[in-house]
Amino acid sequence: MHEMSLAEGVVQIIEDQAKSQDFERVITVWLEIGELSHVSPEAITFCFEAVAKGTIADGAIVEIIRTPGQAWCYDCEAEIQVPSLIDPCPKCGGFKVQVTKGQDMRVREVEVE
Ligand SMILES: [Zn+2]
Repeated sequence: MHEMSLAEGVVQIIEDQAKSQDFERVITVWLEIGELSHVSPEAITFCFEAVAKGTIADGAIVEIIRTPGQAWCYDCEAEIQVPSLIDPCPKCGGFKVQVTKGQDMRVREVEVE
């Protein structure tokens, strides 16, 4: 599963931070998931809990932040919001759009003690 390797990446990031910042337990993890990424919040939460077992992030709460899809329309010469990768520009209906945001997933913040 795609989300399983992403979850492993998140746990890896947290463990690296634990080494450099010297914390012992992770309470909450905020994950930013772009609306245009094919990451399911339910699946990533489930996978994270499974992958985190026995690590410093064991039992951590996963909070998901959805970030909207953004694109650049070459016809309007403006930043636009796009609900999916295949939608045209909502202003002019054109397809000369380049997605700029909302395709990725990243760790925004980790609450530790
Ligand atoms: Zn446009």
